Amino acid sequence: MKIRFSAQDERFRQEAADWLADNLRGDFQPIRFRGGPGDEHAFVAERKAWEQCLAEGGWTCIGWPKEWGGRDASIEQQVIFNEEYARAGGPGRVGHIGETLVGPTLLALGSPTQQERYLPGIRAGLELWCQGYSEPSAGSDLGNVRTRAVWDETARKWRLSGQKVWTSLAHESRYVFVIARIDPSSVGHKGLGFFLLDMQQPSVTIRPIPQLTGTSEFNEVFFDEAECSADDIVGEPGDGWRVAMALLGFERGVSTLGQQMLFQTELDEIIRVAQQNGTARDPSIRQRIAEAHIGLRTMRYNSLRMMSSGGDGSLGREAMIYKLYWSSWHRNLGKLAMDILGPDAELIPEGEYGLGRLQSLFLFTRADTIYGGTNQIQRNLIAEQALGMPREPRGQK
Ligand SMILES: Cc1cc2nc3c(=O)[nH]c(=O)nc-3n(C[C@H](O)[C@H](O)[C@H](O)COP(=O)(O)OP(=O)(O)OC[C@H]3O[C@@H](n4cnc5c(N)ncnc54)[C@H](O)[C@@H]3O)c2cc1C
Repeated sequence: MKIRFSAQDERFRQEAADWLADNLRGDFQPIRFRGGPGDEHAFVAERKAWEQCLAEGGWTCIGWPKEWGGRDASIEQQVIFNEEYARAGGPGRVGHIGETLVGPTLLALGSPTQQERYLPGIRAGLELWCQGYSEPSAGSDLGNVRTRAVWDETARKWRLSGQKVWTSLAHESRYVFVIARIDPSSVGHKGLGFFLLDMQQPSVTIRPIPQLTGTSEFNEVFFDEAECSADDIVGEPGDGWRVAMALLGFERGVSTLGQQMLFQTELDEIIRVAQQNGTARDPSIRQRIAEAHIGLRTMRYNSLRMMSSGGDGSLGREAMIYKLYWSSWHRNLGKLAMDILGPDAELIPEGEYGLGRLQSLFLFTRADTIYGGTNQIQRNLIAEQALGMPREPRGQK
């Protein structure tokens, strides 16, 4: 297992750290450590401006090829950048779906027209994207999507009708990528299309879903014959499942060390509160703090192990436990925070207008074990794909 980076990578680290120190200040000072899951409503305009500042500095899409404005950065360098970004307090990225999901998918499977149309806007931090996969009856069972796509021969356009749900940041996004059913007689993974759709048309309605935290980061999205040009289907009509799964496969774990740095900041805050209010003297709390610390170290070594495998940028079996592990760890951290706050956990902190940071943390960590594949689905994947156990029974399609 590689536990150190090369001298060249360390020089790259220094370059990233220097740029962040020089730029993440002044007008951008207030957005440090803000945004991201559970805090997406914070400083949206400023974070959009920051995205463009990153782009001007050449720090968006660093893993993309140089011809598309990237740096051809290796997996290690992308990990390093994410780590330095988190260390500097870089705010939650508003452009991450375009950069990490749409861009790599279009680079691999998009047509030249799609690449030229969409990649520059993502690279410049100007055009934000959201993900239109889940529907009321298609979450874990994604093959059950019912949104329809009908080809209008007269207008030479696709027309999409149906409903998506839990669409994160749809209200801030210009575009959505959608899986929709082209062949009405098809079931499951067959007969689907993968569409790139402009949200700025009257036939798209976005309705925010209020969360327990009091804010709305995700939405219901309704399509009522929304138009999509003939050029905006990725892959062949009917082959949308392959594109949709390829997109999910572009997650390379490059943000893991950065994510752990944010977790460390949260754990440090929890320990500070425990010392302040005396709960740090409680043996069971001390034990749970120690377990949280150990869990975080374990996560780090697993990430380094993930990066050491393959060599060709592909992820090995080690990667399959990561989502289940971090989301369960984070949910437990939220519970620990509430137990340390004690009765104060139920009060709005003095001088605050909304929930305190740890209260929001607790509430949002309940979602961590759901989005990006629930814990139960992760266990199925580990059992079937990593351990080679028999597949669980599936219903007839
Ligand atoms: C904060 C947040 C942001 C999200 N953002 C987006 C987004 O931007 N775009 C998007 O498309 N979606 C998004 N989602 C949706 C997310 O992908 C789904 O919630 C998730 O896939 C689970 O689907 P579901 O909610 O329909 O639950 P269901 O699939 O109905 O699951 C309900 C329960 O049944 C269990 N279950 C289901 N199938 C099995 C099985 N085969 N074996 C064992 N247990 C099973 C699940 O684990 C779960 O506990 C988001 C969700 C959240 C919470």
